[in-house]
Amino acid sequence: MNLNNTTVLGTGILGSQIIFQTAYHGLPVVGYDISDEALAAAAQRLDLLVQRYADFFDGGDRTKAQAARDSIRLSSDLADAVKDADLVIEAVPEALAIKQDTYERLAKVAPAHSVFATNSSTLLPSMIAPHTGRPDKFLALHYANEVWKNNTGEVMGTAQTGEEAYEAVVDFAERTGLVAIRVLKEQPGYVLNSLLVPFLQAASGLLVNGVADAPTIDKTWKIATGAPKGPFEIYDIVGLNTAYNISSMGDETNKKFAQLLKTEYIDKGKLGQATGEGFYKY
Ligand code: NAD
Repeated sequence: MNLNNTTVLGTGILGSQIIFQTAYHGLPVVGYDISDEALAAAAQRLDLLVQRYADFFDGGDRTKAQAARDSIRLSSDLADAVKDADLVIEAVPEALAIKQDTYERLAKVAPAHSVFATNSSTLLPSMIAPHTGRPDKFLALHYANEVWKNNTGEVMGTAQTGEEAYEAVVDFAERTGLVAIRVLKEQPGYVLNSLLVPFLQAASGLLVNGVADAPTIDKTWKIATGAPKGPFEIYDIVGLNTAYNISSMGDETNKKFAQLLKTEYIDKGKLGQATGEGFYKY
């Protein structure tokens, strides 16, 4: 099984990066989102990625990254977007109902041979598998934000995922510039978020309980451990919408943090690094 033609559902922060990463490594990619307005935003994100890839891989020469950008097709028609797909990577918002609905619509229009992979950070693929119509060809492929440099690709199946699909996705990950991480059993949060989410929640607990402000928490972590970024700098990279979705499902302290994110940041258009402001200005 060779996965080449790729369609990415959801062209937000991660979706746009997955699209670009795949195109830059030479595979044909289509990006799907729900409206032409969402696709216009995607086009802008993809345009910005040209320079980031050129700087990271090609010493600032935009030729290869621009060719990758030009090869990307965008569509707001699901059937059209997936008609040739060997692999569909789903990066729609982190809400179970949206994911399940997306897979039910996808199952009706995708070719029978297509493998489906979710990029969900916190939902288990077994919660989605019954909605895919092909549980043997469904698994998770989890990217990290800023995929060109933070290039882990965590591959995690369910008990029903077939070995052929699993190995094909590992191979796809490696051909598209990722370091494939074989997660051997279902684990909420894979390897990365099993470490990262409790860390970020500990930081937001310190903030909403009035123990220290965000820059102080970041400074402490960076000076004392030598880590390049503090937790609130990481929140800004993750995006405050995703942080809100995850925090609002948590305990009282997490919910308090979700409320703070909404009133002080999200409602004011401050969604993190992508919009130029979150906890910090960029
Ligand atoms: P985002 O909010 O930036 O983007 C979501 C996109 O999905 C938007 O473009 C939106 O228009 C689109 N969308 C909404 N409903 C849709 C539908 N029904 N069908 C298709 N598209 C739809 O979110 P994001 O941060 O890119 O996260 C997307 C997924 O990637 C989530 O599952 C998240 O857990 C995962 N993820 C995020 C990060 C991160 O750091 N942000 C890292 C790894 C994985």
